[in-house]
Amino acid sequence: MDWTEELDKWAKEYLPDLKMRTDEAMSRHTSFRIGGPARRMAFPGSGEQMVLLADFAGKCGARPMVIGNGTNLLVPDEGLDRLVIDTSAGLNRLETGAEENQVKAEGGVPLARLADFSHKQGLGGLEFAHGIPGTVGGAMCMNAGAYGGEMAHVVETVALLDVESGVKTLSRREMEFGYRHSILTDHPDWVVLYAVFRLTPGDPAEIRANMEALMAKRKASQPLEWPSAGSTFKRPAGHFAGTLIDQCGLKGLTVGGAQVSEKHAGFIINRGGATFADVMGLITKVQERVLAATGVRLEPEVKIVR
Ligand SMILES: Cc1cc2nc3c(=O)[nH]c(=O)nc-3n(C[C@H](O)[C@H](O)[C@H](O)COP(=O)(O)OP(=O)(O)OC[C@H]3O[C@@H](n4cnc5c(N)ncnc54)[C@H](O)[C@@H]3O)c2cc1C
Repeated sequence: MDWTEELDKWAKEYLPDLKMRTDEAMSRHTSFRIGGPARRMAFPGSGEQMVLLADFAGKCGARPMVIGNGTNLLVPDEGLDRLVIDTSAGLNRLETGAEENQVKAEGGVPLARLADFSHKQGLGGLEFAHGIPGTVGGAMCMNAGAYGGEMAHVVETVALLDVESGVKTLSRREMEFGYRHSILTDHPDWVVLYAVFRLTPGDPAEIRANMEALMAKRKASQPLEWPSAGSTFKRPAGHFAGTLIDQCGLKGLTVGGAQVSEKHAGFIINRGGATFADVMGLITKVQERVLAATGVRLEPEVKIVR
């Protein structure tokens, strides 16, 4: 039996309330607006549904992949023969934590909402995250950061599901955060259920002003008007990817519908109708040209999904 038949049968019996779609276009769930159909996409509404689903999906060969807002993903046009589990619709509870200055957020909570909520509690520390368009789960995976801040500075604990051993809570140190790296980089099958943040009390007006100033900086320097996945490449040691690409004269370089942004050379944007192959082709061209001119090898930051 094909894994989709097995999964459909199981879901009907054990999770009849689970929202699931067939052949769901990934382009609707990625900020690049690129990606063909996922054979199944599920939208669990609670941690319990997630645990049951992830467990069965692993067993029936569905190769589950958990996504948040899809803001760091590049997905092939032929689609994905796997189960995509979208956390953004149903795993988004947000509350103050058990201790003072703590905030607890489920994996699908958008970072903007998390930062807004914290600011309203008079808690600072997440101003840097307000303009990052991902979710808590994606941010834990990537150790998302900007303007000198990163998740590793504000996370206290993370509750993770590992279907092999169950739910476990890892401390900040155990999360092994590094530059765009965490323990999830080496365990892509683990799922962030929720994270607890330890924040700093502050004046809400000052926190808000800080968030707005960083957002203004972002708008002035990034091509937010075009679909993209943010910075295409990681920052190579001792350099900035965008600066190297700019110095090589590659702003505006185009393959099909994909283009190196004229506004920020670190972003590849979808100028309309860009395909997976267009973006991959452009990534390769940029890597080759930068390597030849500077000797620096650029590594993609965007996750190329298969
Ligand atoms: C305009 C723009 C600006 C950006 N600016 C920044 C920036 O300033 N700094 C920065 O760091 N990034 C930035 N990004 C990239 C992106 O927003 C971050 O990497 C973000 O953390 C991804 O979150 P997501 O929810 O969209 O994750 P997705 O793209 O959905 O997934 C990314 C990875 O996380 C995994 N994942 C997602 N949710 C979970 C979960 N619950 N459990 C386990 N794994 C999970 C996925 O499997 C995948 O491997 C930007 C992107 C865009 C489009």
